[in-house]
Amino acid sequence: MNRAVFLDRDGTLIEEAGYLDRLERMVFFPYTVDAVRALNRAGFTVVVVTNQAGIARGIVREAFVAEAHDAISAKLVAGGARIDAYYYCPHYRTGVVERYVRGCDCRKPGPGMLRQAAADLDLDLARSFVVGDRAHDVGAAHAVGARGILLRTGLGRGEEAALAPDVTPAAVLDTLADAAAWILDQP
Ligand SMILES: [Mg+2]
Ligand SMILES: [Zn+2]
Repeated sequence: MNRAVFLDRDGTLIEEAGYLDRLERMVFFPYTVDAVRALNRAGFTVVVVTNQAGIARGIVREAFVAEAHDAISAKLVAGGARIDAYYYCPHYRTGVVERYVRGCDCRKPGPGMLRQAAADLDLDLARSFVVGDRAHDVGAAHAVGARGILLRTGLGRGEEAALAPDVTPAAVLDTLADAAAWILDQP
């Protein structure tokens, strides 16, 4: 079985942009490529897991999500790094795009995307990590017995200040670069 690092997208891999709906608004952090490459080289399967409620809310076109992920992969590949798979949750309880208006178990902190990835990619979730800028990223990690790392990029500083007592990250770190170094340092 493989170990994975699950990466949130917005605020973690790229700058938080509200509902990202155009490639021109996509901004990489300066260390994103290096951090992902370091995880690749250490043998981790690197998987993006992103809540995209903007789809159910009619703000983000679903086709754009694929475009955005292709653009992320192109940038990474140019730097010798790789995302092994992308999963997104298009659902939202109070959306407007009827086929996506519902509760689901894939919207983080639900475990659905992580479990699907584990089935698809033969992942050992108990030996995996989830990195993100929101409490729900840490919650998703807990839901599957993985370790959750909260970052202070994106919305992370506000999330850190308001963490519920039952949300206990394994680490709270400044950036994805720090998270990659922290993960590589674990026994
Ligand atoms: Mg995020
Ligand atoms: Zn969902």
